[in-house]
Amino acid sequence: MPRPSFYLASVTRILLTLICFGFCLSQVHAAPSGKLIGIISVDWEGRVLEQDDLKAMRSFRQDYPSIGLLQFLNAAYYTKPNANADHITQSIRSVLSPLDEEGLHIHSWRSLLETAGVPFRRSPNWSYPGEISMNSCYLLDCGHNVPISAYTETELRRMIRTSQMILSHHGFGPAQSFRAGGWMAKPHVISALAKEGFQFDSSATDPNLLKGRRWSDRLYRWLDELWADISTTSQPFLIGQRHASLIELPDNGILADYITAEEMFAVFKENVALWEKDKSKTLYVSIGFHQETAAQYLHEIRGAIDLIEAYSQENQLPFEWASYPLKSSSFEAFRARNHAD
Ligand SMILES: [Zn+2]
Repeated sequence: MPRPSFYLASVTRILLTLICFGFCLSQVHAAPSGKLIGIISVDWEGRVLEQDDLKAMRSFRQDYPSIGLLQFLNAAYYTKPNANADHITQSIRSVLSPLDEEGLHIHSWRSLLETAGVPFRRSPNWSYPGEISMNSCYLLDCGHNVPISAYTETELRRMIRTSQMILSHHGFGPAQSFRAGGWMAKPHVISALAKEGFQFDSSATDPNLLKGRRWSDRLYRWLDELWADISTTSQPFLIGQRHASLIELPDNGILADYITAEEMFAVFKENVALWEKDKSKTLYVSIGFHQETAAQYLHEIRGAIDLIEAYSQENQLPFEWASYPLKSSSFEAFRARNHAD
C-alpha cells in the first residue's frame, strides 16, 4: 500500500501542473492579437441625387445589412438653386443605416462657397488648363473640379463650418471624419480640420492606383506629389501639427470607379501578407464608392466584399468590417508607433 507521502507528492504534482496550465493559458490569452479591419466609405459629391444610384445603394443595404459604411456626406445638395431640402434629406436618409458614420466631404461648389461667404475661385482645376468655364455656374452649379486646397485655411474653416451647420440642421452629423474632394488635403486643409475639431481624415491615397485610370492626369500629378509616401499597405498615422493632429486613415484601396473587385481583393491580400509578418498589429484596408456613380460601380464593391469574406473564412483570418463611429481610442497603438518613429 503506497505511503501517505506518495499521495502528497502526487497531489502536489497535479496541483503544480494545473497552476502551470492555467498560467500558460492566461499567457496565450494575454498575447496581443491584431485584426484585419475593412472600411467601406462613400463619397457624396454634392452634385445630384439620382434614383438609379439611390436604388443601387438601397439594394446593397438590403443584401449586406450588417456592414456599416463611412458616409462622407456633402452639404452642397442643399445649396443648389431651387434645392428641395425635404426631398434631399429623405433621399439621403433612405440609404443610411444606424450602423453608419456620418462624415463630411467637400468639393469647391460655387453655391456652397457663396453660402459660406467665401469668394469663388476658378483656378486651378484638375480638368483642363486655365480657369473653369462659367457656363454651368448659374443654371446648375460649378467648381467641383477646383481643389479645396486652392482656398486659404480661414476660408476652408468657413466652408467646413457652413457644411457642418447645413448638415446638422437637416439632422446629420456632426461629422468627426473627413475626406477632401479629389483627395486634395494639403497641410493647411488638415490644419483647418483640426481647428474645427475633426478627429479623422481619409484623404491620403496611393496615387499609383489612379495612374491612367479614366482620371485626370493633372490631378494624378498633384496627388503623386502630395501623397508620395502612401501605398496600398499604408496604415493609419498621425497627420498635422503635433498639438493639432488628426488620425489619417489612408484610402489604400481607393474608390470603385477606378479599381475592380479583383484589384481591391489584391490590395486586401497585400495587407494580409503584411499582417502575417506581425500578427499583433491591427491593419486597415479601405475601399469605397461614390453615391453619384453607385448604379455603375457598386457591383465592384459587392464583388470585393464577397472575395474578401470568402478568403478570410477559408484562411481563418481575424477579419471584420469596421464599427462606427470610429473611436480615436482604437488607434492608440498607431499613435504610439508614430510617436516612436
Ligand atoms: Zn469627391
